[in-house]
Amino acid sequence: MLSGQIPILVLKEGTTRETGKDAQRNNIEAAKAIADTVKTTLGPKGMDKMLVDSLGDITISNDGATIMKQMDVDHPAAKMIVEIAKSQDQEVGDGTTSAVVLAGELLKQAEVLLDQNVHPTVISNGYKIASSKAMEIIEKVAKKGITDEELKNIAKTAMTGKNVGGVADYLAEIAVKAVKYIAEKRDGKTVVDVDNILVQKKFGGGITDTQLIEGVVIDKEKVHPRMPVVVKNAKIALLDSGLEIKKTEIDAKVQITDPSKIQAFLDQEEETLREMVQKIKKAGANVVFSQKGIDDLAQHFLSKEGIYGVRRVKKSDMEKLARATGGKIITNLDDLSPADLGYAEQVEEKKIGDDRMTFITGCKYPKSVSILIRGGTQHTIDEVDRALHDALKVVGVTLEDGTLVPGGGAIEAEIAKELRKFAPTIGGREQLAIEAFANAVEVIPRTLAENAGMDPIDTLLQIRAEHEKEHLNIGVDAINGVVGDVYSKNVIEPARVKKHAIESATEVATMLLRIDDVIAAKKSKPEEKKEGGQGGPGGEGGMPPMM
Ligand code: ADP
Ligand code: MG
Repeated sequence: MLSGQIPILVLKEGTTRETGKDAQRNNIEAAKAIADTVKTTLGPKGMDKMLVDSLGDITISNDGATIMKQMDVDHPAAKMIVEIAKSQDQEVGDGTTSAVVLAGELLKQAEVLLDQNVHPTVISNGYKIASSKAMEIIEKVAKKGITDEELKNIAKTAMTGKNVGGVADYLAEIAVKAVKYIAEKRDGKTVVDVDNILVQKKFGGGITDTQLIEGVVIDKEKVHPRMPVVVKNAKIALLDSGLEIKKTEIDAKVQITDPSKIQAFLDQEEETLREMVQKIKKAGANVVFSQKGIDDLAQHFLSKEGIYGVRRVKKSDMEKLARATGGKIITNLDDLSPADLGYAEQVEEKKIGDDRMTFITGCKYPKSVSILIRGGTQHTIDEVDRALHDALKVVGVTLEDGTLVPGGGAIEAEIAKELRKFAPTIGGREQLAIEAFANAVEVIPRTLAENAGMDPIDTLLQIRAEHEKEHLNIGVDAINGVVGDVYSKNVIEPARVKKHAIESATEVATMLLRIDDVIAAKKSKPEEKKEGGQGGPGGEGGMPPMM
């Protein structure tokens, strides 16, 4: 009836819109593309990616989260996939690649059903049912009660594929010790906050010089050579202000007319600094950490009093110091009282490589621990840092939950088998979706086999046959390139890592499936700038170039 009339524009000019199947298929393609990119990195025989950022800096890694972080993806669906890698990394520390690969495979399997005209809502419902059933299966299969040896092997499994091969054992041991150190019991539950482990990196030495310190390590030296190298029974003042004369906010000029006044002026500055140091001394401190600067004169006065001083300490380090030593961070020196001081048995400056660092040990709050990472190149140090991050996280998660599952695709094979048994009990078209879900989780053993140079189909058939016989620990022994008992090969993972990966992959896949309309606003600024031609970089939002 209305034909021939001018269409009513409800969207802004330049807005693009994709609807129906196009929108859905494009999203699926984008998600699959991301999954395919990281697929080759999965497992111990996975390959690395070399990532070059816009400044030319290089990162070499096969850690899913790291790769995702560096990849500059543009497609909105791809971005959602990247988000699950990030959340997986933050929540459980491992299984990032698995989550992404699984999300891609769930969508790929869904495509088959879409082609058969199964409605996306039905697929998404089936997937949700399958996902919660998978949680039950994991719970049922998981081994409860974890030994220290198992904790170490969980750490090692999480570190496989990272370029720390030869020393994984050493690092795993450090990770387990550190986590056990900070684990707390709250209401009968074990709670681990790995953020309480201070990780410092220092160039030089070898990876095996990486050490665990029962205390806090600050990457700063004492400010004055005459200060003591070691302070026993340290009473520690923590200042987020400086020991210096405050520069006025506005440029004030002091006009001195009489030359004799110059001396008076300087004397007064000296007096102020002296008083500051006296306040610290009066409170009973023999160590002071300042978040800001310490003036030369103040350094001199401190060293005369035998006080160990450190300046420009990072805010995050100050907070760690406060927690470890039980001290309070003070802004105004007038407020400093003996009760605000932190305590440690010893504060010591030690030479590490070419630099000096401050070690605070025997802290009042004993559950404070640091790891000092060493390595011959910055790349090594960064990779060790990433490996340790994963290891600490998985050990923490395992200690909290007390449950583990076999890795190497064994748990996924078991989930697939159980889901195939379960699907007919649901019936209808959802049954198809649950079966598709079962096929999708098998992407993990299939990909592990493929990356280890094994025949993926033969491997999968063999594993399925074993699981039919209730041999739950049979999976891909990727190191030896055979199907075998992965538990006996110490390939074990926290149950929570698997649960989280499946849950978040399901969430993003079902979300993408149900989108049938993508409305994108016109891209702003960056492209206009390119077209503008003139001006060059830095002219952002600025004035037009002058002629
Ligand atoms: P993610 O980012 O998902 O953790 P990884 O590249 O670390 O990706 O690979 C993890 C997968 O590799 C898990 O399924 C894990 O069980 C498996 N895996 C680790 N070590 C081995 C091994 N020695 N043999 C077989 N599979 C292994
Ligand atoms: Mg991993």
